[in-house]
Amino acid sequence: MVTLDKSKDLFDKARVILPGGVSSPVRAIKPYPFYTESANGCRIKDIDGNEYIDYCLAYGPNILGHANPVIKQAIIDQLDKGWLYGTPTGLEVTLAEKIASLYPSIDMLRFVSTGTEATMSALRAARGFTRKNKFVKIEGGFHGAHDAVLVKAGSGATTHGKPDSLGIPEDFTKNTLQVAYNDIEAMTEVIESNQDDMAAVIIEPVLGNIGPILPEGDYLKEVRKVTEENDVVLIFDEVITGFRLAMGGAQEYFGVTPDMTTLGKIVGGGLPIGVFGGKREILDMISPSGSVYQAGTFSGSPASVAAGIAAVDILEKEKVHEKLEATGNMLRAGLNDIIADKGLDYHVGGIASMFKVFFGDKPLNYQDVLKCDKEGYLQFFHDMLDSNVFLPPSQFETNFLSTAHTEADLETTLEAYAANLK
Ligand SMILES: *Cc1c(COP(=O)(O)O)cnc(C)c1O
Repeated sequence: MVTLDKSKDLFDKARVILPGGVSSPVRAIKPYPFYTESANGCRIKDIDGNEYIDYCLAYGPNILGHANPVIKQAIIDQLDKGWLYGTPTGLEVTLAEKIASLYPSIDMLRFVSTGTEATMSALRAARGFTRKNKFVKIEGGFHGAHDAVLVKAGSGATTHGKPDSLGIPEDFTKNTLQVAYNDIEAMTEVIESNQDDMAAVIIEPVLGNIGPILPEGDYLKEVRKVTEENDVVLIFDEVITGFRLAMGGAQEYFGVTPDMTTLGKIVGGGLPIGVFGGKREILDMISPSGSVYQAGTFSGSPASVAAGIAAVDILEKEKVHEKLEATGNMLRAGLNDIIADKGLDYHVGGIASMFKVFFGDKPLNYQDVLKCDKEGYLQFFHDMLDSNVFLPPSQFETNFLSTAHTEADLETTLEAYAANLK
């Protein structure tokens, strides 16, 4: 049993000064979150002295675990030279060339500071390039917190999207059309019936923010085909899957090439970053070379880019993805055994270093995930925390593995699953 007395006291202060007591909503664990003191490798330690094996890993970026010493040194070396210039650096060129060499869909790219900025700018570029307004997103797909992508689930594709937040005028979401994931008929139908004003499709190749939910069969290839046939810009939002499924992301893993790609999370080595890139003729539209405006004080921040270069370098040299695929398979097999032993109707989802136990049947889309036992999962989350394992606090968030998780850590984790799953 862990006790969280100091965290509780801190939360009582935090909720007065920070909305919900937190800086981002997913962190508002009920009745109160633990407050972190430090983290190293696969372990995260709270201010009450409890230590957890971490499968949240900051929601994706920390694929090499917390406080990786090589990334840390790269950041320190950069700090010695100053950490914000407002001028171009060679670091940007180095990381940009590296990314372009790994992502054949990316001829050119721009650095921004978050994934939110990356998808916002990618959509603006696609709309500027096509001079069209509408785009399709996947129901339950997450592309950050800007106006055009915060659209209510169930809004449907036949009418225009309804804002999923107060403060967003309906005018800002009326060009956002939604379809279910893994439904190529619905995607084809909405593209064809809006063809004269359809700029783009934006899609997480693997749904990471309500999953992982995987593409069935040739779904991604079919999405590529229908967008190509209709001159619609296909944007893969690889903010999670980029450098996670493979060096070249989901597009390498599944062999499908989009027109544009957004990256974030892993590619900043744990510091804030976002990237949007794609075909030269689209990126040439970006200011100052073209008339699609985009700018940022912190874009290409030297510390973030230096950390990103170090992270990508380690991922490549240590052939991390092969190892993580094996670790992921081992963990998923272990979880499947536990579920079978207990005769539970649960589904173990996942791919590479992403995994999740769904408290329900295998989901193919957002409406399926909604049928899972969310309250049961929340209780299970707390039981796991009591067993010193930190999972994402929601049935809708992916669990992540890192290279810092050892076989012994995985065994401890499987024991905790066996003790707590019911
Ligand atoms: C996290 C995430 C974003 C937003 O990135 P931020 O850096 O949090 O703004 C966008 N798209 C996907 C798929 C994400 O997982």
